[in-house]
Amino acid sequence: MNLTTRMACATCRRVLTEHRHRDQVEYRHPVVEAPHEVVPVDAGHVRRPFDRCHTCTDDLPVWNYRTGLIQFLALEAGILRTYNDHWHVCYRCAQHIEANDIDALTARCAGIVGWQAGSDEYTQLDLLYRGIVFGREGRTLLTTTTWPAARITVEMLPKVRDRLTGLLRCAADLPEPLNNPGQRQTLASQLDLIPMYWINEEFTRRVKAHSADQPPARITDELLPAQAGLLAWPGPVSGTGQLAAVSWTPGSDGWQLIGYRSIGSALDDDLMPALRHEIGWLLPIHAEHVPNRAALDGSHPLGPLVTTWLLIKQQMAESVPATLPKGTTKAYQRSQRPAPDVRIVQIKPRSDTSGTWKPEAPTGRTRAKPDHRYWVSGHERQQAHGPGWSLHKTIDIEPFLKGDEDLPIKLSSTVRVLGNPKRDGGTRSREQ
Ligand SMILES: [Zn+2]
Ligand SMILES: [Zn+2]
Repeated sequence: MNLTTRMACATCRRVLTEHRHRDQVEYRHPVVEAPHEVVPVDAGHVRRPFDRCHTCTDDLPVWNYRTGLIQFLALEAGILRTYNDHWHVCYRCAQHIEANDIDALTARCAGIVGWQAGSDEYTQLDLLYRGIVFGREGRTLLTTTTWPAARITVEMLPKVRDRLTGLLRCAADLPEPLNNPGQRQTLASQLDLIPMYWINEEFTRRVKAHSADQPPARITDELLPAQAGLLAWPGPVSGTGQLAAVSWTPGSDGWQLIGYRSIGSALDDDLMPALRHEIGWLLPIHAEHVPNRAALDGSHPLGPLVTTWLLIKQQMAESVPATLPKGTTKAYQRSQRPAPDVRIVQIKPRSDTSGTWKPEAPTGRTRAKPDHRYWVSGHERQQAHGPGWSLHKTIDIEPFLKGDEDLPIKLSSTVRVLGNPKRDGGTRSREQ
């Protein structure tokens, strides 16, 4: 399930609030009813959708606060103004709300538009924020905000993981598929113990180059490097989803896969430590239960994870234990936790001595070798076993990236040879 879908009004470009009543979803304009009907469309199809804090309109929204429906009756004019009951609020405004500091919230938001204390506008704003602060019923982490990406280093990984488990254990709500309290606790306990994989820059480049084109691969115990894990790339590996990390944990007949986007340093410096402590670096953007032997290809939102697994499995990469800063290992010792298990996944050093002088291959008949790298599709094989070879079991042969490491990448899963390879050296074209 994709957790990043935002809806915006096609008329005014404002990102809308989402209201669920059983199976029905209703979208409303933020803050206050607009003079036009709401026209909900995927915000991805709107040019520069306006997605800012509903109280200050200045910063990216972080939390969705829920209140009762706020309405004001202007007695003299006899006009009833209906506000919203969902409020997308930035991190600084949320700090004021959490501190019940209405004065600071009003002063900040009125200050941005230049409203003086004592003016009608200021008083009205103060009243509205009173309604939000005292009428709030809970808050949910927004996973739709388009944060700039963070750089994740191998040294950071234990802390990145610990902040994620902290987020799972906190009192605030998470988006629906991740919000079940029991499942949140179970997932946090699983993540406490999992091995962490950090993919180095060179290997990440390779994953990016090959992922879009990766043929379907079966998700099985044999493919996974461990039953559970958290895997992070130094920067995002996929376009719109901005996938930065994935966790996988065993569930009923399969795995729970959660993809995350990273949160870069988007706030003022004074706020970042609190944000890192409370939310951390990873924001869930995709949650899915993947049954054993499900086939996932490069077009899947978590495709880069599968490509990474495949390339590890075909031994293109090796994983080596990371040396962590002393401070990190000591902190774990103090809290009597086992040392974090962090591995760096990197391209395997080549077994031949590339770069050194090699004699020319003898001329004459040589087998035509491919001039690029390409995927060979996976398939199933029935293997006989048991008494008299009477039983059969299915063996999955996973997709395989073929060709020498220094060859250019061919962005097509199938290679077709046109013409006579002996005469013209084999003209290859992309399979359409
Ligand atoms: Zn509108
Ligand atoms: Zn704000």
